[in-house]
Amino acid sequence: MPAEIRLFTCLSDNYGVLIHDSDSGATAAIDAPEAAPVEAALRAAGWTLTDILVTHHHADHTGGIKALKDKYKCRVVAPAAEAAKIPAVDETVREGDKVAVGKLSANVIETPGHTSGHIAYWFHGDKIAFVGDTLFSIGCGRVIEGTPEMMWNSLRKLRDLPDDTKIFCGHEYTAANIRFALTVEPGNKALAARDAQVKQQLAAKQPTIPVTIGAEKKENPFLRADVAEVGAGIGLAGRPPAQVFAEIRARKNRF
Ligand SMILES: [Zn+2]
Repeated sequence: MPAEIRLFTCLSDNYGVLIHDSDSGATAAIDAPEAAPVEAALRAAGWTLTDILVTHHHADHTGGIKALKDKYKCRVVAPAAEAAKIPAVDETVREGDKVAVGKLSANVIETPGHTSGHIAYWFHGDKIAFVGDTLFSIGCGRVIEGTPEMMWNSLRKLRDLPDDTKIFCGHEYTAANIRFALTVEPGNKALAARDAQVKQQLAAKQPTIPVTIGAEKKENPFLRADVAEVGAGIGLAGRPPAQVFAEIRARKNRF
């Protein structure tokens, strides 16, 4: 059976998400911004939490772990490099490790940059990746603990996933990201189409995620730092992609 997903909002602009294996009954929360919305989503679906898969240590991704662990006795899986900063960790994982959620299986992809130990979980059989605060719809996370080059390399790893991979990220930032992206690539027609689509989604109070890697490759400037026109458009024609990426990220920080 394919994985079942529930997506819901937490805190002010975080997303919570559950992935469920109906064969075994296993259910994982990807991060736990706060406990109550996760519990409400579990109740509504009739599921019991068996696992929490943590992408990184920030409080808006880990604040609900302790209460959920106390209630459900679930397993907490976290990036090895950040386990000391995350509560109630049972298992640590690194690049190339596999994490089972019932019969579902995720590959761990290390994506440092936003934090130094950030990881993503790629459920390849279900064509789903949970990318935390590394890649956003038409954006990317702030480079807080790593270097721009590190973040660029992490984004390239995610970009290399199959085009039909559905991406779930940690925040609803898409509208603001598109406003910025249009300043980098004002002539990008696919991006203009996404702008129209996102306006409709938000007007209907729908989430703008998941998005596919295939669409992000065409529309997200942070995945396009090695496209010649993107570098030229910001006055860095022919410069190394990591430098173009760093300039786009710096402009977004000021936007
Ligand atoms: Zn974060």
